[in-house]
Amino acid sequence: MIVRVDKILSELGFGSRQDIKKYVKAGRIMINESIVKKSEEKLNSEKDILYFDKKVVEVEEFETYVLYKPSGFVCATNDNVHRTVMELIDSKRKNIVPVGRLDLDTEGILILTNDGNLNHRLVSPASHVDKTYYAIFDGKIVDNAIEKTNIGLDIGEGEVSKPAKLEIISENELILTIHEGKFHQVKRMVKALGAEVTYLKRIAFGGLRLDDLKLEKGESRKLTENELEILK
Ligand code: URA
Repeated sequence: MIVRVDKILSELGFGSRQDIKKYVKAGRIMINESIVKKSEEKLNSEKDILYFDKKVVEVEEFETYVLYKPSGFVCATNDNVHRTVMELIDSKRKNIVPVGRLDLDTEGILILTNDGNLNHRLVSPASHVDKTYYAIFDGKIVDNAIEKTNIGLDIGEGEVSKPAKLEIISENELILTIHEGKFHQVKRMVKALGAEVTYLKRIAFGGLRLDDLKLEKGESRKLTENELEILK
């Protein structure tokens, strides 16, 4: 990746572009063995080494994280009322966003990235990325629920869910795999089946299983190359 010094350093949280200009003037930034003279100077992240105050700055174009989202955090970059999932990500980058949304009270696997193409692909219904949810519910599920879910459910507001896979694992627990992401989709599908979700957790996303990630609730980390491949 070829990138401007001021752009990458401000993206990485070293300050505004104006700040970076000042740091350049003060001679605090180097590429390889040379002091950077202009903040518009470019570097090649594949072969050049960028230094700030003589410390190496890791320059990656894209950062993709996985978070075990706890309840009580909103999937947004800022919010006036609730804490956001961004607080749980250890990156200074400002252009990282959640991929899709989990409700405030939903737990489970959430991907966050600054890779716009990846984000788009993961949320697009055309990509058929499977999302699997574990739900606890109140009430009694209708007869033939598996077949009905497999065909498509009237989830209200003129919307019908695409064919999905339902497993009923006890009298108040189910697992549902969908590949769309309509607003409150799982809760609305369970409602269409005659019950009400009281707890919801996303246990898998596009081939990544929460159990395999070895994350505690509230913990996040960068995806490994291998995990990224599974996701792509
Ligand atoms: N479906 C829901 O109803 N809520 C979520 O958070 C995710 C899927």
